[in-house]
Amino acid sequence: MLNQVDLSQTQKEETNKILEIQNDQSFQPHYGKNYMFRFYNGQPQITIGPHWPLSVCTFILIIVGAYFISAIIHIKSGIWYSSGSVISSLILEICFLRVFLKNPGINFTSTYVHKLRVSILTNSNFQNSCQPCKLEKEYGTYHCYQCDICVKGYDHHCPWVGKCIGVGNIKEFQMFLMSLLFFFSCNLFLIMI
Ligand SMILES: [Zn+2]
Ligand SMILES: [Zn+2]
Repeated sequence: MLNQVDLSQTQKEETNKILEIQNDQSFQPHYGKNYMFRFYNGQPQITIGPHWPLSVCTFILIIVGAYFISAIIHIKSGIWYSSGSVISSLILEICFLRVFLKNPGINFTSTYVHKLRVSILTNSNFQNSCQPCKLEKEYGTYHCYQCDICVKGYDHHCPWVGKCIGVGNIKEFQMFLMSLLFFFSCNLFLIMI
């Protein structure tokens, strides 16, 4: 009986040692299916989502479409009207690139790193943690299964910009929608006059 108690105590100590070693290891961020660049304070400033080929096609389609529309306006009404069309398409392209490149809310702040194994051992509540990302989720953070990463202030996954829309790029996304509306209304007006 005494031997059994000693054995379980030894096993417990061994497990604790393993956990200590594991938790002392530097945190390896889970990048999911995203490409990340330009890190500042450990946070990526530029991220490209997993559906980037569709975004590249969309961008090419915007450029080609805008070129044809401005060419029609140029033939019909002259260079001054077509320059208005070119400006509206440039605004649209810049707004698209801003959403395409900006971090949607992927956060690697080390304070949110959740010691999953420790929480399991101590039976603490880890309902708000994400196992693949090894992060403790804040309110509004959602794990996108298409990007395979947690996004703060998750709104939706947009395949056209190839990534998630979250707290980091929601304003840019709204600007993009506004620029799209401006592009169509401006060019419709220029074609009709
Ligand atoms: Zn996650
Ligand atoms: Zn996503």
